Amino acid sequence: MHDIVIQGGNVVDGTGAPARQVDVAVQGGRIAAVGQQLGAARRVVDARGLLVTPGFVDIHTHYDGQATWDSFLTPSCWHGVTTAVFGNCGVGFAPVRPGASDYLINLMEGVEDIPGTVLAEGIDWCWESFPEYLDALQRRSYAMDIGAQLPHAALRFFAMGERGTDHRERPDAGELLLMGRLAEEALRAGALGITTSRTVKHRARDGRYTPSLTAAEPELFAIADAMRRAGKGVLEVNSDFGDGDFEILRAAAEASGRPMSLLLLQVDNAPGLWRKTLDQIHAARRAGLDVTGQVGAKSIGVLFGFETSRNPFENHPAWLPLLPRLPHERVARLRDDAALRQRLIDERPGDTLTAWFEQALRRTFALGPALDYEPDASHSLVARAERAGTSAWALALEALMADDGKGLLLHPFENYTGGDFSVVHEMLADGATVMGLGDAGAHVGLICDAAGPTYLLKHWARDRSRGPKLPLEMLVKKQTADTAAVYGLADRGVLAAGMKADINVIDFAALDLLPPQVAYDLPAGGRRLLQRARGYRHTFVSGVEVLQGDELTGQTPGRLIRG
Ligand SMILES: [Zn+2]
Repeated sequence: MHDIVIQGGNVVDGTGAPARQVDVAVQGGRIAAVGQQLGAARRVVDARGLLVTPGFVDIHTHYDGQATWDSFLTPSCWHGVTTAVFGNCGVGFAPVRPGASDYLINLMEGVEDIPGTVLAEGIDWCWESFPEYLDALQRRSYAMDIGAQLPHAALRFFAMGERGTDHRERPDAGELLLMGRLAEEALRAGALGITTSRTVKHRARDGRYTPSLTAAEPELFAIADAMRRAGKGVLEVNSDFGDGDFEILRAAAEASGRPMSLLLLQVDNAPGLWRKTLDQIHAARRAGLDVTGQVGAKSIGVLFGFETSRNPFENHPAWLPLLPRLPHERVARLRDDAALRQRLIDERPGDTLTAWFEQALRRTFALGPALDYEPDASHSLVARAERAGTSAWALALEALMADDGKGLLLHPFENYTGGDFSVVHEMLADGATVMGLGDAGAHVGLICDAAGPTYLLKHWARDRSRGPKLPLEMLVKKQTADTAAVYGLADRGVLAAGMKADINVIDFAALDLLPPQVAYDLPAGGRRLLQRARGYRHTFVSGVEVLQGDELTGQTPGRLIRG
C-alpha cells in the first residue's frame, strides 16, 4: 500500500522528456514508482487535467537570516519551491565573531536591501563558526529543504577583522591560512558552496564596496584549495565581468576542481557583455570545467510605490511632510488636495535622485492589474504622456495613487536594453544556463522575484505574446533537474522511482501571479513586498503536503541539506 498515488496527471518529470499521462506513487517520503496502475494507496490525488512536476529547486535565494526565524520561507513556499539554497553573492551571517554582527547586517542591508532593524531583531546569533550556524538551522524544520553556503564577505571579515571590510586590503599569509582552514571546515560540515561578489552594485549600507570586490589570486586560490581539499562545494559568483574577472574566476574554479555557477544578465552600459561571458562559459565547458550561468525568467526590475523603498516623488519638498503619516492618511491627503498634486507634478527638486527618475520614467510602466512584465516601450510613462499631451509625472502620480495608494510602477533595469525579453529567451534557451537570479528573501522593499518559478512557466510556456515561447518540459527542467545538478543534489529534481517525493500538482491553465503587495510582517514590523500565486493545488516535500490550494498546510517536513 502506497502512502499517496497522484493519479492521471500530465507528468513533466524534470528530465526534459515529453509530458506523459501517468501516475506517481509515493511511499515513505520517496517516489516509489511512476507509471500506470501502481496499486492501492492510502490517499489518491486526482490530478486529471493537472500538471505534475518535481518541486522547484531555487538555488538563488537570500534566506540566510529569515531561515533563523521563519519556518515557511514565504514567499518561495507559495511558488512550488521545495528546495531553497541561500548564502549567495558573498553575503551572509557566518562565521561571525562575538559582537561583530553589525558589519554583516550593514552589508546585507546595503547589498540585498533587507532592513538592518529586521535582521538585528530577527536573528539570535547563537553561532560563531559556520558549522554552528548549520547546527542552528538544523534544529528547525521548514516548509522546504534548505541549503546554506559560506559567504566570502563573512569569511574575510572573520579572518581579517576590520581590515577585511576594505576590498583594497589583502590578507597576509596567516589570514590566508585561516580563511582556507575555515572554508574547508564549512564545506566538510555541509556548506553547499562558497560564494563571492565582484560587482560594484554591491555596497554596504555605509556606502563601502562589498569586501570581496577585488579579491586577488592568492585569496581566491586559498578558497579554491579548500574546496579541492574538501572535494565539495560549488563556487557561486556575482560579477560585473570587468577586465580579467572571468579569467581569474575560471582559474580558481580549475584549481578547486569543483563546479562554478555565475550570474548572467544584460546590463545597459555593456549590453553585449553577457554574450561574451556566455561564450567564455561554453569555452570553459569545452575544456572540461563544470561552469553554468544562472539566468532570470524576466528583466531585473524594481517596483516603485508609495510604500516600497523608492518612489519618484520621494525627495520632493511637498512629499516630505507626508512621510511621517500612515500610508492611508497620505493617500487621503493626496486625493483631497488638488493643489498638492499639482505641485508634485509641476515642480522638480534639483537633486540627483529626482534627475535620475526623470530619465528612468522613459522606461517605467504602470504595473496595473494585468501584471505585464514585458511591456512595450510605447506603454512607458513618457511615451504615454507624449501621446496624451500630459506629463509623465502626472501619469506616475496617478498610477501610484491607484488601488488606494498601493499602485506600483515597474522599472526594468537589466535584461531589458532592447525593450523586450529576446535576450532572456536566448539565455533560457542556452544549454549552459539554469534558472536563478530570483534573489528570494532579498531586495524586499523593491523586488519580489521569488515568484520567478511561477512566472517562468506561465509566461514562457503559455502567455508570451511578444516573441517565441519555450517548451514547458524544458522550462521545468531548468528549475528542477538542472538546478539540482548544479549543487549535486542527486536525490531530487526528477520524478522517478527512488527520488525524494518533492512534487507539485499545478492547475497550469489557471496558474497565475497575484499583484505584489507590501506587507509589514517581518521582525520589528519590517516591510517587504510579497507576491502570491494561484494554481498550486498541492505541493509535497518528502511526501508531506506543505501547500494545498495555494495555502500553507502548516506542515514543515523540510530540513537542512548538508553537502
Ligand atoms: Zn543574490
